[in-house]
Amino acid sequence: MAIKVIIAGFKGKMGQAAYKMVLEDEELELIGLVDPFATEKNVAGVPVFTDKTDLTALEADVWVDFTTPAVAYENTKFALENGFAPVVGTTGFTAEQIDELKSLSARKALGGLIAPNFAIGAILLMQFAAQAAKYLPNVEIIELHHDNKKDAPSGTAIKTAELISETRQSLKQGATDEEELLAGARGAEVDGMRIHSVRLPGLVAHQEVIFGAQGEGLTLRHDSYDRISFMSGVNLGIKEVVKRQQLVYGLEQLL
Ligand code: NAP
Repeated sequence: MAIKVIIAGFKGKMGQAAYKMVLEDEELELIGLVDPFATEKNVAGVPVFTDKTDLTALEADVWVDFTTPAVAYENTKFALENGFAPVVGTTGFTAEQIDELKSLSARKALGGLIAPNFAIGAILLMQFAAQAAKYLPNVEIIELHHDNKKDAPSGTAIKTAELISETRQSLKQGATDEEELLAGARGAEVDGMRIHSVRLPGLVAHQEVIFGAQGEGLTLRHDSYDRISFMSGVNLGIKEVVKRQQLVYGLEQLL
């Protein structure tokens, strides 16, 4: 039987890519679309909902979310409370919110996925970065995105820093008497390492992790040139969460 899917944020850039992916997969059935500002009642026969509370009676398996950081937590909670396994690409969750959602999913015995990045190359970049940080603790992260992105730094950059922190010896980088002549010049700080956010039209989603040591450097870089790069991960997420009873954070947990 096909997995019944709802897509929240279907009019956005990621939502549109997810919409096409779900329609093209015979193992998936699109049964609802959510956008609070939509005026159409359906799209190609699929009902459109402007108020998520109207979805409670819908017998869906999975809630795919590509909305905005401001509503992602409430949406994910709503999905879990109503028996829809969430597959969430929207970024901007706090660590506390992720913990709360993990507990809620366990209580409901419902699978779920919050993935700051669905691209396989980005997952590999994070893992390679964590491996390198064991030997090269001086590291800076530069993430580059299109200029409509609402949150900074990116969820991927935060997740990369968290994974690096697990293997890297804690270290405050830069000169001890370093002084910012312009606020923010050295970027955001996580455990003594720095994250820099670039926003430019023309970009999609890109990240560099730069390591420095005596007389040498190592640069890891991933580029999503097209949103199609995220869709095999979203597809895998949908098919995996329905088999599980616990929400996980990071696509690598399902690979
Ligand atoms: P986008 O083009 O701005 O799309 C977001 C869509 O959600 C918009 O159409 C927006 O409508 C709609 N929306 C706002 N509030 C909503 C609500 N309460 N319910 C349903 N829909 C709502 O942004 P995007 O580039 O698609 O990105 C969406 C999210 O995915 C961002 O958080 C981004 O960082 C993240 N992302 C994740 C990955 C990943 O691999 N995990 C990759 C790329 C992007 P309006 O425009 O009318 O407000």
